[in-house]
Amino acid sequence: MPGNLYIVATPIGNLEDMTHRAIRILGEVDLIAAEDTRHTRKLLTHFGIRTPLTSYYREKEASRASELIDQLLGGADVALVSDAGTPGISDPGAILVKGARQAGIPIIPIPGPSALSAALSCAGLESGSFLFVGFAPPKSSQRKKLLESLSTSDHPLVFYESPHRIGRFIRDAFEILGDRTVLWAREISKKFEEIEETTLEQLVPRITAEKIRGELVVIIHPGDEESPQAQSLEEILIWYRDNSTLSLKDVCRRVAADMGTGRSEIYRQALEIWNKQQ
Ligand code: SAM
Repeated sequence: MPGNLYIVATPIGNLEDMTHRAIRILGEVDLIAAEDTRHTRKLLTHFGIRTPLTSYYREKEASRASELIDQLLGGADVALVSDAGTPGISDPGAILVKGARQAGIPIIPIPGPSALSAALSCAGLESGSFLFVGFAPPKSSQRKKLLESLSTSDHPLVFYESPHRIGRFIRDAFEILGDRTVLWAREISKKFEEIEETTLEQLVPRITAEKIRGELVVIIHPGDEESPQAQSLEEILIWYRDNSTLSLKDVCRRVAADMGTGRSEIYRQALEIWNKQQ
């Protein structure tokens, strides 16, 4: 029988966020695979856990994953942790999980902290949907290209960013997306936690004037287009055709989401309306 692979979430700054189950599992497994063993050693010492540690980090993911899978197949229970939060979310983990699944090894999540869910929980997103982007590319040209491709998204965009790149990210976002409402979540669960709703325009002078410290999640809301006052589906579609820059496909998607209905009838009517214009 193979062992179990546990994917264990750990605190993103506040040790009180460690779950009882995470402590028990980390204490019971044969081996803990950690992104940075020195970092995780401190966490384990805090909770009196003596389980052996091995490293599992981005640059060596493939080779470390196959070694760990061999150990799991040999019957060892292994827990995977990252430096903070949930492994596999902008952190190493995917290669091990994929390989373990292919090898028929049970994969068991131990849910807990993540900067993603913590920031979202304070964002008040009424639509319930969002698009998790994670880290934008470090190169400005690639970052701008990505932002352009996301500029017509109807969903709030969730980005992770580090303090040394946040200035360039906010400037590019303002240039490409224009002014947008933003949830700025910095140092979540730590002493200097800062969570506020602001705008890209207000952030630009602030990131220029202040040295921003600590990790951040930035949630950028969709563009603040006027919404149609129309009542019938036909009127709504005509309004979008004449007043927005959205593509026919994006209009159908948005209207279907707003009305809570399927897309096929909306798409049929939209095609007729768009064709009439030509
Ligand atoms: N796997 C982690 C998770 O579940 O949140 C994310 C790891 S990723 C390498 C690190 C990024 O997560 C940071 O650059 C930042 O964007 C975000 N992050 C982590 N801790 C945070 C915190 N306490 N406050 C705000 N953002 C945080």
